[in-house]
Amino acid sequence: MPEKHADLHLHTSFSDGTYSPEELAENGRRHGFAALALTDHDTIDGCERMQAACEKLDIEFIPASEITVDVEGHEMHLLAYCLDTAHEGLRTELKRSQERRRKRIHQMVELLNKLGVPLKVEAVFKIANCDAPGRPHIGRALVEAGHCSSVDDAFRRYLKSNRPAWAPKPKISAADAIKLVHQAGGVAVMAHPGLNRIDQCIPGLVKAGIDGLECFHSRHSTRVSERYLQIADQHALLVTGGSDCHGMNKGEPLIGSVRLPYLHVEQLKTRARKHRAAAAAAA
Ligand code: AMP
Ligand code: FE
Ligand code: FE
Ligand code: ZN
Repeated sequence: MPEKHADLHLHTSFSDGTYSPEELAENGRRHGFAALALTDHDTIDGCERMQAACEKLDIEFIPASEITVDVEGHEMHLLAYCLDTAHEGLRTELKRSQERRRKRIHQMVELLNKLGVPLKVEAVFKIANCDAPGRPHIGRALVEAGHCSSVDDAFRRYLKSNRPAWAPKPKISAADAIKLVHQAGGVAVMAHPGLNRIDQCIPGLVKAGIDGLECFHSRHSTRVSERYLQIADQHALLVTGGSDCHGMNKGEPLIGSVRLPYLHVEQLKTRARKHRAAAAAAA
């Protein structure tokens, strides 16, 4: 039997991806994946449809989210896998985070207006059409209104953290998020460490109970992946990986660029069962 593979980092139009859950699942099938996780930013709203779409295609689905957190003053993305999507505490926190995202869209559009760019928040929310709006939606609105030549151009001119229309995004602390993920029976993983360059925070995250490191990512070179495999080994952390595909948002769809051996999914599920049992015992 050929070896099974997974992609554990994927986005849909429920956050800043362009694929619907059905389109994403179909692309997963084309690439022969045995398991897929949906990791939309700060939302689990797409999980129900993704679950149904995967079921039809005989693909194992892992409900997840990529939660924006703060670690020692740095922004970090926390991948949360095998979540109980009905968990009240988790749902409340994600709603809070979505409210903060909406507020930030207002702030950033205001900054754009002050810079002489007459963009309307309604245009951004119309394009976002979801509860987790973000900068890529502002970027698309800027392109649509003819103010920028591409989303990338919008990021370079206005939206990056060192550009004039950027506004900070208040975030839950990594330690609190990890605790919450465990309470929701999930597994907490540091996303794309190679893009963040905050390795000095890893020991603290380990103390806070983080379960794993996303060693494989479409923007990690082989060398970078090897570095994080070594760090994961040092701290006895789980290993995950995924493409971080956003559909057509950043040019070519990335799905298929990372193929995680299924063994890592087994280990992830074993850890999730442990957290689920602990959460049930504490309740
Ligand atoms: P936000 O969550 O609102 O801070 O937006 C961050 C998201 O913007 C990331 O998750 C990426 O998906 C996306 N992003 C970052 N840089 C770019 C870029 N140059 N072009 C398109 N999307 C980007
Ligand atoms: Fe994104
Ligand atoms: Fe991310
Ligand atoms: Zn992502």
